[in-house]
Amino acid sequence: MDDPAKKITAYLEAHRSEMTDFLATLVSINSVTYHEERAVAWLQERLEAFGYDEAYIDAAGNCAGRIGRGPAVILADAHVDTVEPGSPADWGFDPLQPRITGNTIAGRGVVDDKGPLTALIFAGRAIKELGLGEGLTYWLSASISEEDVEGSCVRAMMELNPRIKPGGIIVAEASGMKIIRGHKGRALIRMEVAGKAAHASAAWRGENALIKAIPLIQAIDRRRCDREDPFLGRGSIEVTTVICDTPSLNTIPGRATVIADRRISCGESPEELLEELKPLLELSGARAFIDTEEVTTYRGYKIEQSDYFPSWIMPEDHPLIRAGAGAYREVLGKTPAIESWSFCTNAAYLCGITGIPAIGFGPGDPALCHSPEEILSLEDLVAAAAVYAKIALNFAAAPEAAHPA
Ligand SMILES: [Zn+2]
Repeated sequence: MDDPAKKITAYLEAHRSEMTDFLATLVSINSVTYHEERAVAWLQERLEAFGYDEAYIDAAGNCAGRIGRGPAVILADAHVDTVEPGSPADWGFDPLQPRITGNTIAGRGVVDDKGPLTALIFAGRAIKELGLGEGLTYWLSASISEEDVEGSCVRAMMELNPRIKPGGIIVAEASGMKIIRGHKGRALIRMEVAGKAAHASAAWRGENALIKAIPLIQAIDRRRCDREDPFLGRGSIEVTTVICDTPSLNTIPGRATVIADRRISCGESPEELLEELKPLLELSGARAFIDTEEVTTYRGYKIEQSDYFPSWIMPEDHPLIRAGAGAYREVLGKTPAIESWSFCTNAAYLCGITGIPAIGFGPGDPALCHSPEEILSLEDLVAAAAVYAKIALNFAAAPEAAHPA
């Protein structure tokens, strides 16, 4: 059996029940965003047991592992954190005690993102144990806090370890087994409308900031982004909340803060996003900002994160996307669908900001993320691990990989 794709698939098929147990244990270790410490410690210990050449927890609290020292460097990232498990009543069982039936596993995180993470870890193990990683360095990133601040903790991982210098990145998130070559970005836009607080019984003494904000809110609701990307489609903007500064419920508010979610598809910069809002802001005399927040990981590590996450897009004929499509064909014997994600991931930083080529792929239906219905096919889990391993090997074999531009 000389065909590496067949070898990898056979290896992973033989480890299917071990992969299932691994995922079940990982799900049982609650790792809600900002509380990932137990899961990360367990992962580091597993990577060591699996023969990774290196496995460590960084100062931010991410777990990283490495296989090989070749010139073609791949960073394979999946996040450890999950949203809240949710109520057992909604699931019909305890979502931290996953349900395994014949060919599926259900529970919090099996789709987002512990299934894809399991597949990445076993992909590295298969490469190592089968001795296939010639010319390759495979960095495994089990990153934290993606659900709240996508991109910021994996950024910290790369900044904390300058040896992680990938020529290509695999972003492992549920994609329904489709190859992903881009997604929209997002920005959180804060708009402030100033008024003057006054007792509600004498409102004429003040200026009601909430009422003043209404023309702005309506204009945002009517707004249609005029630019459209042929692959990612049109951007959008939606008001998601209004916060009023008022000392009591019988005072008219002196300030209203309108928050909007802006989806970005044409690579607009933060400055451009604010500039295009100017005519709308004038309707209510408002000012707009894209804030920078400070997040603190479970290790107490502080990270500054702008509320701006750019879009990313890779050409279909890029060597990394070709490596991915080829890997899919070799493992699954058919041509993959190549699409975009509808949600934002760590790729906003990994590709959108660094400009390093990236590919997305993962088992599981993205529509199930964050729902009390997360369920994953074990067949897809094994196949995805084989595709990940083969993407890395195909990438290492591409002449461009070892000498990225
Ligand atoms: Zn995710």
